[in-house]
Amino acid sequence: MSQHYAVVAEVRGGKLRQVTLEAISAANQAKSDGDRVAAVLAGHQVEALAQELARYVDGPVHVIEHADLETYNAESYHAAVSKALEALSPKAVFLGHTAVGKDLAPKIAAGLQAGQISDVIAIENEGTGVVYTRPLYAGKVFEKKRFASDTAGPQVVTVRPNNFSPAKPLANSGEIVMENYAAPADLRSVVKDVIRKTSGKVDLTEAKIVVSGGRGVKSSDGFKPLEQLAEVLNAAVGASRGACDAGYCDYAMQIGQTGKVVTPEIYIACGISGAIQHLAGMSQSRIIIAINKDPEAPIFKVADYGIVGDLFEVVPLLTEEFKKALA
Ligand SMILES: Cc1cc2nc3c(=O)[nH]c(=O)nc-3n(C[C@H](O)[C@H](O)[C@H](O)COP(=O)(O)OP(=O)(O)OC[C@H]3O[C@@H](n4cnc5c(N)ncnc54)[C@H](O)[C@@H]3O)c2cc1C
Repeated sequence: MSQHYAVVAEVRGGKLRQVTLEAISAANQAKSDGDRVAAVLAGHQVEALAQELARYVDGPVHVIEHADLETYNAESYHAAVSKALEALSPKAVFLGHTAVGKDLAPKIAAGLQAGQISDVIAIENEGTGVVYTRPLYAGKVFEKKRFASDTAGPQVVTVRPNNFSPAKPLANSGEIVMENYAAPADLRSVVKDVIRKTSGKVDLTEAKIVVSGGRGVKSSDGFKPLEQLAEVLNAAVGASRGACDAGYCDYAMQIGQTGKVVTPEIYIACGISGAIQHLAGMSQSRIIIAINKDPEAPIFKVADYGIVGDLFEVVPLLTEEFKKALA
């Protein structure tokens, strides 16, 4: 019997987040022949986004449109999404392993009495069941996991951003189903405002290139050459906890075990020693370039390319060369 795999869409700044298209790819990999991928979209003035989303899925897009859903609120989003999931009765629910996904997924799992596998980076459909891979112990080892039974109960999965190729548009758009929203009677919190702290124009967790600074930048001004390089490369600027703790930059930029996890195509680590807790947030990057004046720095063990030198000399040189090459 054909079943639905539901993807809960995420919107930021009026746009669908790329991780939503990646979650659709993940759901496509997990489903069996004949199953369909559906989407759930909660928000305010999201009709155009619903049309866009419908191009990527072969199942219906359930839309919950209401002013209360303009900004993410765990309780109201959960109420909205649960109703749509009830209608879909999916075999599995996929979300991005983002701040919103990490908050919402366990609530959905608890509501559906479902099992949950988080932070998935790869999926193999073995025919007899689906195997999910996720990093453990700050990325030192990988665990392969499957749900105890592929036939019992729903499943909830969160996927790490930048690990699945974003879904491609399909020839036929999925059907749009508008759902009514009933605000929970016992809403215990309301979101008054969201104050977003960003490190630049490009979202750190979705950036294709990240230029990151550590304690080696020595001051907040020391981030300027990194910002200039990032500008030329259309990259985001990140940081080690060493740089954040020293007050050189905001904690919103921190990458690592207790910071953000990034998996860009290129990660440029400037003046970062390469502590295990930092590696936890960036070691899955496709190409790692390290600039450090200490040839023994542990970061060189994970780097694909290493430059032993003073970042204040090397980074401006790279910026000039990239400027010329990209002109
Ligand atoms: C529970 C726990 C959680 C943690 N979570 C995180 C986390 O999420 N993220 C994280 O990053 N850390 C985390 N840490 C901290 C981590 O252990 C390290 O202390 C931190 O990553 C070090 O930051 P750093 O590499 O910038 O600084 P340092 O270790 O001080 O390294 C600075 C590097 O810069 C180089 N350098 C100095 N000057 C220059 C120059 N002019 N040019 C080139 N290179 C230069 C030095 O050779 C050195 O290698 C955590 C620690 C704990 C205990």
